[in-house]
Amino acid sequence: MAEPPTPTALVWLKRDLRARDHAPLAEAGRFERALAVYLIEPAWRSSPEFHPQHARFALGALAALQAELAGRGLPLLVLEGEAVATFEALRRAHGITHLFSHEETGPGWSYERDRAVARWCRATGVAWTEFAQTGVVRRLKSRDGWAGLWERRMNTPEVLMPAGWRGLPLCPTLLPLALPEPPQPARGATEADAWATLDGFLAGRGRGYSRSLSSPLTAETHCSRLSEHLAFGTISMRCVHQATQAAIHGAADSGLARDLRSFAGRLRWHCHFMQKLEDEPAIEVRNFARSHDGLRPGDGVAMTAADQARLDAWCEGRTGFPMVDACMRQLQATGWLNFRMRAMLVSFAAHHLWLHWRAPGLHLARLFLDFEPGIHWSQMQMQSGTTGINTLRIYSPAKQALDHDPEGRYRRRWLPDWGTPAYPAPIVDEAAALRHAKERLYGLRRTEAAHQEADAIQQRHGSRKAGLPATRRARPRRDPEPGQGRLF
Ligand SMILES: Cc1cc2nc3c(=O)[nH]c(=O)nc-3n(C[C@H](O)[C@H](O)[C@H](O)COP(=O)(O)OP(=O)(O)OC[C@H]3O[C@@H](n4cnc5c(N)ncnc54)[C@H](O)[C@@H]3O)c2cc1C
Repeated sequence: MAEPPTPTALVWLKRDLRARDHAPLAEAGRFERALAVYLIEPAWRSSPEFHPQHARFALGALAALQAELAGRGLPLLVLEGEAVATFEALRRAHGITHLFSHEETGPGWSYERDRAVARWCRATGVAWTEFAQTGVVRRLKSRDGWAGLWERRMNTPEVLMPAGWRGLPLCPTLLPLALPEPPQPARGATEADAWATLDGFLAGRGRGYSRSLSSPLTAETHCSRLSEHLAFGTISMRCVHQATQAAIHGAADSGLARDLRSFAGRLRWHCHFMQKLEDEPAIEVRNFARSHDGLRPGDGVAMTAADQARLDAWCEGRTGFPMVDACMRQLQATGWLNFRMRAMLVSFAAHHLWLHWRAPGLHLARLFLDFEPGIHWSQMQMQSGTTGINTLRIYSPAKQALDHDPEGRYRRRWLPDWGTPAYPAPIVDEAAALRHAKERLYGLRRTEAAHQEADAIQQRHGSRKAGLPATRRARPRRDPEPGQGRLF
């Protein structure tokens, strides 16, 4: 009789590039033989959201993780290849019996790949266990009680790292990949960098967080700057939450504690927005509110050459609206922008330039080092007015400049040609563009179809807890008349 196979664990690292609070790695510690793998998947590299800066960040994190895990006996392979083919090769070579990974709420290609891996596991008898790593709940039945679930998950003790692994005798490899130079100096990508960023923020950099959030001049320093670490999983959401709660309780300075409480609420938003993509994967390509389909060019309506020219000008930061162009140039140079300026960029594309959110969203997904699909596509739609449930917000670049860059320091920093003849004239007439946008959007929102749909969207995706971004809990009695919409 043939010997039963030696239980052999394969840990599949995805957006969880850390050793601490890592359930799949902990589980593999119990096995007689274990191996970890990270895949640079061709489907990722050819996806429209991909930018080489993303792979560089991942490789930076992996280099440190590989050394740490090797020191404890676990080889980590970094391979270029599709999941099923690579796993099958590893199974044949090493007799893999178990696969461990974290759940992922990703773009369509990753969803399809997970389904293919599930089929491969069924066909080969490999047992696949997936663990949650954020507050996102898989197969969620209802949003009622979601915030409580989030709290409970975030307050459970972190998963402890095993003392060591009985790793397969392999030589870990880190493949040299032919990636073009990134557009900005690589920021620290390791787990140690993530903790240093968090510790510095909690210890004092976060003082003034709430009042510094909106200006691009102050946000750079006083925001946590954890987004890329959360996106690549170099630190877990649970660890950030628990360290923040400890800092709030320990803060002698009540101003700092207030700022940290405001930050803590945003950690829940992170998962709240990701949950929307988890519950409805199609929102990366189609409107939450289907009554808004076909509203703008690029959404089932062909883009004209003029539409394309406006999109190109926006992507390249040459719209002739200095605050908009300065933001795009900062993003191109650094891979990061604060929330308010992201919202203004998108609002401008959607309302001033009357562009559907998908093409601008792909451009931003590539430029954001912290691209997190669930947050990104929900926010793209929210700022474009296609969720059907959120208050319409149209940002005026001039007002944002007055409020957040009154002396022009930010614009001068990122737009050296501002104020010179080389700087372009505005590409649209702002007043006429906004009149058109408000007429179309408010007109649509007043229809019975839009009202009915809004109730269903609120039920499925809307927040139930005060403190989350405003959604319409009940139908407004009266929408503003065209032209009366608020400018932010
Ligand atoms: C159009 C648009 C697209 C966006 N795309 C992304 C994205 O791809 N990835 C991403 O992480 N954030 C995205 N955001 C949200 C937000 O702008 C960033 O999380 C934030 O600027 C990151 O900087 P920080 O880590 O210093 O934030 P902090 O203010 O220090 O916040 C801490 C963390 O809370 C979470 N968070 C903060 N604000 C929000 C928010 N409004 N919604 C959801 N989570 C939030 C993030 O995880 C962030 O890292 C987007 C916002 C807009 C308007």
